[in-house]
Amino acid sequence: MSTDEPSVPIVCTDCETETSVPLSDVADALAKHNDGKHDGEEIAEVDPALKDQLADLVAEDLGLFDEA
Ligand SMILES: [Zn+2]
Repeated sequence: MSTDEPSVPIVCTDCETETSVPLSDVADALAKHNDGKHDGEEIAEVDPALKDQLADLVAEDLGLFDEA
């Protein structure tokens, strides 16, 4: 694995915010945001434009989009 970690844009349509976080922090950042701001509802998500690309690359490894 490279140490030069890519950052991933997270968007929240409800808050109208966009934040970039390191790839390894994405799941945590999403959980924190949604827990803190939206009572655990999964509103914030990885930028949909990137999601498709990420899904191919790493999502399966990280299990980001696999949570029930
Ligand atoms: Zn939000």
